[in-house]
Amino acid sequence: MSNDRNEELTAELKKAYIGGHSNLKVDISVTPMKIFIDRMEGARVYDLDGNEYVDYMCALGPIIIGHCHPEYVRGLKTCLDKMSPTIGSYVLATEMEIELAAKLKKHIPCAEEIKFAVTGSEAVQLAIRLARAYTEKRYVIRFSGHYHGWFDNIIGLLMNSDPAGMPFGQDSPRDYYGTKGRDPDAIKQTFILPWNDIEAVADCLEKYGDQVAMVHCEPIAYNHFGLMPRPGFLEKLKELCEKHNVVLSFDEVITGFRVGLNGAQGKMGITPHMATFGKAIAGGMPVALVAGKRDIMKLLEDRSVLGPGTFMGYPLGAAASLETIKILEKDDGAVYREIDRLQQKLIDGFDEMNRSKGIPICCQGTTGAFVILPGVECEVAYTDEDLASLDIKLMVQLQQILQAEGVITRGGGTFYLTAAHTEADIDFTLEAYARSLKKI
Ligand code: PMP
Repeated sequence: MSNDRNEELTAELKKAYIGGHSNLKVDISVTPMKIFIDRMEGARVYDLDGNEYVDYMCALGPIIIGHCHPEYVRGLKTCLDKMSPTIGSYVLATEMEIELAAKLKKHIPCAEEIKFAVTGSEAVQLAIRLARAYTEKRYVIRFSGHYHGWFDNIIGLLMNSDPAGMPFGQDSPRDYYGTKGRDPDAIKQTFILPWNDIEAVADCLEKYGDQVAMVHCEPIAYNHFGLMPRPGFLEKLKELCEKHNVVLSFDEVITGFRVGLNGAQGKMGITPHMATFGKAIAGGMPVALVAGKRDIMKLLEDRSVLGPGTFMGYPLGAAASLETIKILEKDDGAVYREIDRLQQKLIDGFDEMNRSKGIPICCQGTTGAFVILPGVECEVAYTDEDLASLDIKLMVQLQQILQAEGVITRGGGTFYLTAAHTEADIDFTLEAYARSLKKI
């Protein structure tokens, strides 16, 4: 692979943007060099050096129908031919918004009502505000390692190590989502508990339930090595929330429209009181939303809770969401069945090669998103203890080599699939994986 142009342009890009665009403490790029896009099509990316890649990063999740899907592109162009991408929403509106609301309410189990935002981070803040207003309580319980956006009150922090203290998150140099510049009071807004530990939640709610407004979790912790919920955990979480008058909110920013049309809540058969969506909902345009029970959401109607925004519900985002959902709805969700089939073929291929090489690698996830965990031997990883033997170095090395072999993955061992991945893409990936294993 030649990378002359990529290297040259990376140096210019670095001069243009201090710190890059989205910045995290752990850089999830595996090479200092960027891949400069010439064009994208289906599941493939073609760069300016003439290299071709199969893409499993999928823009960190939004790409669910593939790159440059012709119906999607046509829908966006039609919208842009007729109106401005955004209209401010107070005086002007479009018919598309009505059609979209009906689809969202049909597909998202907890969506008795919805409210748009633009990014996932924003949707989470609105959900917190709604839960606080509804319960007239203050704190949010979240779980160690789960990610809910970049705002002061919700990013990073480690669990409180003092068992006698309130379970607030704590700043720590070991926290890879830790950031300077945070309002110190923001730390004291969220309790952080261990994922899948229902006793910890029960204890916390016993002690502080009268001050807790909301429990917010990723139903599958894709931002934390794909830790699955233990069977029954989410159901018990809902029971506890209802006992203590706490809003249960699922962060479906990754899982929404990726694991299925009904999100993780539909897939797992557990309907939270509220949920946040983003990423895949609009196939790559920035659109996010809060969906929830009418009782909670109606606080927006009388304006006792505010969620204003210049871009909320903007036409180009609505067009993108409609086109994406229409593609995903076809043949009663045939797209997801095909994603399942191809994903299983990929995982089976990886498993077989890992076994013959004698490397334990646990592959887990569900439709459209799975994680490979080198060094982890258990069938399914649920907790940080299950990840004790995780070989992060090997995980990163594998990602690095795969990229050099033409396969782009998201950091943290995650692979996202799309409606556009084909049998040929899977075969290409398995061959690249076989070559990669020889190099580690
Ligand atoms: N919640 C989850 C589960 C996410 O994965 C993310 C983004 N990675 C967010 C919220 C924040 O979304 P955004 O980056 O669009 O602000």
